[in-house]
Amino acid sequence: MDEGMPPAHRRFLPRPGPALRAGGRVAAIYALAGALWILFSDRFLARLVVDPGQWIELQTYKGWVFVAVTALLLAWLVTRLVNRLYEKHYQIQRLNRTHRLLSSINGTIVRVRDRDELLRTACELAVRRGGYQFARILLSPAPGEPPVLAGQVLPAGLDAGWSAPPLSVPGRGNESTEAIHLQDLENLGGQPAWRQLADQAGLRSLAALPIPDWAKGVAARGWLELGSGTAKQFDAAELELLREIAADIGLGLETIDKSASLDALAHFDPLTGLPNEALLRDRMQQAVARASHDKRVVGLLLADVPELIRLNDLHGSQVGDRLRKEVADFLGEAIRDGDTVARTGRYSFAVLLADMARSEDMVELAERLLRGPEVCIEGEELPIRLALRGGVALFPTDSAQGEQLSRHAALALHNNTRGPGTCAFYSPDMNQIAQSRLRVAHGLEHAIEREELELHYQMLVDAQNREPRGAEALLRWESARYGKISPAEFIPIAEEGEVIHPIGDWVLQQACRQLRHWMDEGIEHFHVSVNVATPQLQREGFAAHLREIMERNGVLPIASALAIEVTETAFMNDLDRAEQVLTEVRDLGVQVYLDDFGTGFSSLSYLSRLPVDVLKIDRAFIHDLPDDARAGSLVRAIIALAHSLGLKVIAEGVETREQADWLQARGCDLLQGFLYSRPVPAADMEMANVRHRHAFRARRS
Ligand code: C2E
Ligand code: MG
Ligand code: MG
Repeated sequence: MDEGMPPAHRRFLPRPGPALRAGGRVAAIYALAGALWILFSDRFLARLVVDPGQWIELQTYKGWVFVAVTALLLAWLVTRLVNRLYEKHYQIQRLNRTHRLLSSINGTIVRVRDRDELLRTACELAVRRGGYQFARILLSPAPGEPPVLAGQVLPAGLDAGWSAPPLSVPGRGNESTEAIHLQDLENLGGQPAWRQLADQAGLRSLAALPIPDWAKGVAARGWLELGSGTAKQFDAAELELLREIAADIGLGLETIDKSASLDALAHFDPLTGLPNEALLRDRMQQAVARASHDKRVVGLLLADVPELIRLNDLHGSQVGDRLRKEVADFLGEAIRDGDTVARTGRYSFAVLLADMARSEDMVELAERLLRGPEVCIEGEELPIRLALRGGVALFPTDSAQGEQLSRHAALALHNNTRGPGTCAFYSPDMNQIAQSRLRVAHGLEHAIEREELELHYQMLVDAQNREPRGAEALLRWESARYGKISPAEFIPIAEEGEVIHPIGDWVLQQACRQLRHWMDEGIEHFHVSVNVATPQLQREGFAAHLREIMERNGVLPIASALAIEVTETAFMNDLDRAEQVLTEVRDLGVQVYLDDFGTGFSSLSYLSRLPVDVLKIDRAFIHDLPDDARAGSLVRAIIALAHSLGLKVIAEGVETREQADWLQARGCDLLQGFLYSRPVPAADMEMANVRHRHAFRARRS
């Protein structure tokens, strides 16, 4: 029956040995008292009385006295015994209560997932279930730091503002990890706050039990302090149980900490502390459900930070991480309570506006958010603004469900071609645009076999004497189904899929064949440049592949007549890798042109690191020449910088003689534009080129 009983209780059960001993002790005392009486009472009487008549009378009195004395003795013995039994019974009751407390606290530990709730409930249980008048838990915020209040229940009659340092025994200090128990509060003279507890609330005994830190193996991460109105409340058995309770609280705390960190890992980005995509999805669904009930608007802004990609590559991931945090802080400060900023990718964030009155609120906020923070970076002279490129979708205007909202916002972001600092709002025709992109991508897959592709060439001339020096190969696609489609439209679509690779190979192959042909015709000092898309460059073994195509077309011996044109996006994802690939390309003898310079991240500071031979200034800058002073000074600066780095400069989009003359005067090396030639088929190009040579020869002769 007593199998399941804790060992601390078992020793209070009636056992035959001690009971027999107690009974024997009473009988022995009684027998001793009786024997002494028989031995000495008659002798004593004989000394006092000589008269036999009196003697008989006194014998009777003596009998009465005997009865009275033994009755008193028996009463004393039985009272003592019963007192002892009561004491034991009370002790069992107390232990039972403590045991109940232990199991309630264990129940709480299993049930409660919140740290504060666990500590608060433990204190409340200690008073309600455990019968203590005072319970307090103190925890160290970090190892080695003094413990601070984490939860308490104060006894009636004490000021609500009562506080006291951790319980300690004078002279022993509270850094000890031994349990402390003060049975009569005599030793608290030096601690007025604790004295107050004794005087005002009538507490008589106190105990403090260490709460261990199981994870770190520290004996005390805090203390459980208990107070009782009964003096000498805490005996060894009770302290043993209480120590168990404190240890279980430690275990409960550890479980909560562990599951909190698991929870955090599952829902939060460890770097920025922002919710991750999973939590965002959750909140989005809740927001949509609430908004449809309350007739409110929900907005989702998805945004990336293109500048962050470049800075991360340029300065390393440590700086990159700091900048990510700055963007996270900036967004976090810009939103209201109840809205959510989440990190959705390496360079992307999301802002969920959960409760708006009108869609227009989103416009205002998006404008503010997309500006991004201004950051200072070592090695950069001026602060840099990390502007965001955004896409927005709204509920209920654009989307009927949470899932749709994020798909539509992603589509809007995808369609935002205006770059950082701008935002595209989802519109239903974006779906159509996406559909037509799909159709274009599908058409492209068959363009080679249907012979719908053609390579045109646009001439480049020497800025000084306007002599032809080379040509850029530009792809043309005339689809049987959709007609002529501009490369500015279909190349980005091709780049999104795998189809860019066969198309890129086809272009390289055609250009090499044409170059070989021109060289065979005796044309000298003439370059052909071919546009190479970033995914082509990033593909494993690009240089080896290029070499193979060159070899197949007999271009290896004249490699220096071939150039590839790459854009700055090639360097954005992985600067080191792009550097390596381009170095391999240059090792083949092929030149590298940096195309559309000025439209990308426009940082001149790292240009010296890039393995390129020629800068092609984007036609957007040339367009405004020579009247626009800003464009003028920019182009001048680019030419000067490129020359100082030993690079040549090509100006794209030269359409007027004034532009050509201005560029010539500023030292630009080569000119390309409609002024000299539109992109034309190779056959037309050949003729034009030959004519130039004839004219040149004629002038010389
Ligand atoms: P890009 O490499 O910067 O090519 C120059 C673009 O500027 C060409 O447009 C050309 O027709 C245009 N252009 C040249 N001179 C002038 C001018 O004086 N005024 C104006 N307004 N425009 C001029 P295109 O052929 O439409 O090509 C557009 C872009 O498509 C190219 O820009 C290039 O990035 C890409 N592209 C073209 N062919 C290929 C290719 O074979 N492979 C890859 N990856 N991209 C290509
Ligand atoms: Mg180009
Ligand atoms: Mg260009």
